Amino acid sequence: MKVFKFGGASIQSVENIKNVGSILKTYANDPVCIIISALGKTTNALERVVNTYYKGEQATALALFEEIKQSHLSLAKELLNDRLSHTESYLLDFFTEVEWLMHDRVVQSYDYYYDQIVCVGELMSSTIVSNYLNEIGFKNEWLDVRDILRTNDAFRFASVDLDFFQNAVDQQVKSILSEKSVITQGFIGSTDENESTTLGREGSDYSAALFAHALNAKNLTIWKDVPGFMTADPKVFNEANFIPSLSYQDVIELSFYGAQVVHPKTIQPLLDKKIPLYIKSFIQPAEQGTLVSEQTVKGLPPVIVKKDHQCLIEFTTPDYSFVGGKPLQTLYEILDNHHLTSHLIQVGAVSVQICLTYDKNTTPNLATSLATLGEVNIQQNLTLYTIRNYNGTLIKKYIDNDNIILLQQTNNTYQALLKN
Ligand code: ASP
Ligand code: MG
Repeated sequence: MKVFKFGGASIQSVENIKNVGSILKTYANDPVCIIISALGKTTNALERVVNTYYKGEQATALALFEEIKQSHLSLAKELLNDRLSHTESYLLDFFTEVEWLMHDRVVQSYDYYYDQIVCVGELMSSTIVSNYLNEIGFKNEWLDVRDILRTNDAFRFASVDLDFFQNAVDQQVKSILSEKSVITQGFIGSTDENESTTLGREGSDYSAALFAHALNAKNLTIWKDVPGFMTADPKVFNEANFIPSLSYQDVIELSFYGAQVVHPKTIQPLLDKKIPLYIKSFIQPAEQGTLVSEQTVKGLPPVIVKKDHQCLIEFTTPDYSFVGGKPLQTLYEILDNHHLTSHLIQVGAVSVQICLTYDKNTTPNLATSLATLGEVNIQQNLTLYTIRNYNGTLIKKYIDNDNIILLQQTNNTYQALLKN
């Protein structure tokens, strides 16, 4: 049993969905559990709907949502024949759920509305893809993952009830998979009150890993628009090279430094059962892709992670007392409460420097929380370079010494935060 995850880029057009169809046809004899995310940039577009609605601009929110509806309907029309009206009736139900919600005035939290609205992205895409695949003879059953992936009600950052999920997979998913493939959604779930929830942006990889775990899958494949794990982002660095294999630990560490190939939570469920992960190109499906497994990989090449839009928050204790265990613990708790992770933290005698991606909503909130404990300064417009397995040539090439704000160096990792 294999688990596949197809991300937004792999299904963003009629042509791409047809490509997914031809990849899957080569697996027709062996049912696969397939996790789908929203089409292209739909999640961003739905976020704009939520933001507008939450500001009280209901008519604009509905107009923005109308655009999303129309693009899905026209994609379905172009792609489908026999199953078009069946698909449209499902889509109309999802649309109604959202519109019905947005006709009311705002009475709940932002995060609550976010999840109720944003979740339709994956519901719409998976419905279209499932029906298309059935039309071309790839037998599958569409499953609303909200019936099996139970979460708490921490909207936008929900935690999964793993026992409930395992049980539901055993009862409902395995029997379908004994006959045909399953198509379901990543990133979304639901509470025991049937409210929709989401697991954090880019969370479909994590959902796919949970399925692989619960199904004791032979492996998990994440299909992407790159050949696999690269030594750098090929859109930014022309010397980006393909890495054929990595250990789970390598991937966890690289994602800690901000490499965005897979969602950071993806590895843990796989590691638990030693399930291999393939990161493969949907453009060149015959290529091997990167294999991530428990095997240690020796002699890894240098890997560069560049993060723009960084800020540096400097926190100083109010009475110049040393930053000890307790204040640090509180700091980490505050970061956690804001669902933020830092790619670089430096602890000094009476101050801590935290480098984070700047966000116009969360960063000021974080600064306000920290200000209750001490003095806070924020510096913006920074870029963080992390070079794993670094060498002098790479440092010389990318790091402009005059602009370094903060430097941290260990045996294998070099991090420099630069002024732009
Ligand atoms: N569609 C969601 C997002 O764009 C989840 C995912 O793609 O993993 O964040
Ligand atoms: Mg995605």
